[in-house]
Amino acid sequence: MATAAPRAHATHDVLNQPPPLEGINFFDVDAPLREALEREGGGWGVDRVRDLGSVCGSPEAHEHSRRAERNEPRLVTHDRYGHRVNRVDYDPSWDWLLRLGVEREVPSLPWRDPKPGAHVVRAALFHVLGQVNAGVMCPISMTYSAVPALRRDPELAAEWEPRLALPDLERGALAGMAMTEKQGGSDVRANTTRAEPAGDGEWEVTGHKWFCSHPMCDVFLVLAQAPEGLSCFLVERGPGFEIQRLKDKLGTRSLASSEVEFRGARGRLLGPEGRGVATIIEMVAHTRLDCILGTAAGMRRAVAEAVNHARHRSAFGALLVDQPLMRNVLADLALESEAATATALRVARAYDEGEEASVFRRFATTIMKYWVCKRGAPIAVEALECTGGNGYVEESPMPAIYRDIQINSTWEGSGNVIALDVLRAMAKEPTAAEAFLAECTLAGGENALLDHHLASVRGDLDALARGEAEPQWAARRLVERLALALQASLLVRHAPPAVADAFCASRLGEDRGRAFGTLPHGIDAEPILERALAA
Ligand SMILES: Cc1cc2nc3c(=O)[nH]c(=O)nc-3n(C[C@H](O)[C@H](O)[C@H](O)COP(=O)(O)OP(=O)(O)OC[C@H]3O[C@@H](n4cnc5c(N)ncnc54)[C@H](O)[C@@H]3O)c2cc1C
Repeated sequence: MATAAPRAHATHDVLNQPPPLEGINFFDVDAPLREALEREGGGWGVDRVRDLGSVCGSPEAHEHSRRAERNEPRLVTHDRYGHRVNRVDYDPSWDWLLRLGVEREVPSLPWRDPKPGAHVVRAALFHVLGQVNAGVMCPISMTYSAVPALRRDPELAAEWEPRLALPDLERGALAGMAMTEKQGGSDVRANTTRAEPAGDGEWEVTGHKWFCSHPMCDVFLVLAQAPEGLSCFLVERGPGFEIQRLKDKLGTRSLASSEVEFRGARGRLLGPEGRGVATIIEMVAHTRLDCILGTAAGMRRAVAEAVNHARHRSAFGALLVDQPLMRNVLADLALESEAATATALRVARAYDEGEEASVFRRFATTIMKYWVCKRGAPIAVEALECTGGNGYVEESPMPAIYRDIQINSTWEGSGNVIALDVLRAMAKEPTAAEAFLAECTLAGGENALLDHHLASVRGDLDALARGEAEPQWAARRLVERLALALQASLLVRHAPPAVADAFCASRLGEDRGRAFGTLPHGIDAEPILERALAA
């Protein structure tokens, strides 16, 4: 008869371990997100985001994410009789996460209910769901982003939009994209995939694609060379579409990313022949917005985990959160996360504002995609370090955040490509930089460091215009400084002075550190940390 082990044999009690950050509402504990949602015109969506925030903060959601990461997708190429099949088997937890996103209209809200603020509400939904699992956000983002590109062809849109926007995983449809080839992803003009007229108004697409995420999507936007040049095609998953293998990736391991072959797959031309990049660019703009949102979500979760750990973990006789050195690190991280959230929702608002905001929207999306995504990995690294060895262990969410966050920087234009896009935008749209700076200047006169920074950025732009700087050499520095101007301006206008002043002092001031945890003297960490995670 088994009896409990005598107490005398116990080696230790479990002490000084923080509780998991579960059983909370991801929306309620996030003051910067709550305020941004209201401010940017999404106040009507508060209940909706709060509802999703409660599911996303639940132990159940976290367990599904852990399972989906652990039980990675598996490619099934043939059935038991040897027939070719093109199927990816996912863990049921992946389906649970994807269904949650689809049913909560994360891919579809602005298309189903295009009232003012719909893109902002959708951005807030993305922000909370993205904190649970980054992989699942990929098909969600591509499906959302395919719709504006499809609308270039009313017939194709009439056929596909109702399914893409349906909040039903089984009856609806998902869209993916296939642009990247072995010889070039940034330079898609080098694509070798061909499209030939099939004689009945459709096209036959033949070639390989080196990256194609979630190949179980129902339909793909594909770039291929047609007689009149690179063109965009809508290709349904079906005959002539073969998955070659799945990528063994650094991150987003719950998501299948694949190499695919098109072997005479049937496609329909979307947009004018020879204008493939111009057609797919609408999709790219929206996925870039989601790169900003996805990074802001990853940062947010990382920082919340770090603050939670420090509030419950003692070392050398005091809680970590009470030790000035750690407070400096946490506050610095929280500033970056708050700036990313404020920026992401401000840029999302430009998607609600229609044509009059189009110049700002394009320019701001590109600039902030560069900067917010660049800051993702350093934040993840430092937040992971705050959680010590626990954060290095796979049971913790930190390793997945650390691996996943970088995809936002690589995908849809990696740093240099984005910086080149900014230069191109300035050359093509002479009002772009001015529209962007006009927004930043709304905070003019409120903070001397910001005023000085804005004057200095204008000086950089003038020098560029006068041909005094090599544009490509100067591009990253310029984009970074423009991005900081918008972030600082948003915080100066809308965040409590403690947050705005600390951001400006540490990001725009002379006395700047390189690593996190180098905030200058005189900054009060308490209100910054209180906003980062409601105690
Ligand atoms: C997980 C994952 C999922 C993906 N899913 C998809 C998908 O679903 N569909 C799809 O089509 N693609 C997908 N991609 C591909 C992705 O979009 C490309 O990897 C990306 O666009 C970069 O292209 P590349 O890999 O060919 O790199 P390259 O184009 O070779 O770029 C390499 C580096 O050179 C830089 N560079 C390029 N041109 C210049 C220049 N002129 N001056 C200075 N620097 C330059 C780039 O910024 C980059 O840092 C995915 C990638 C990953 C990692």
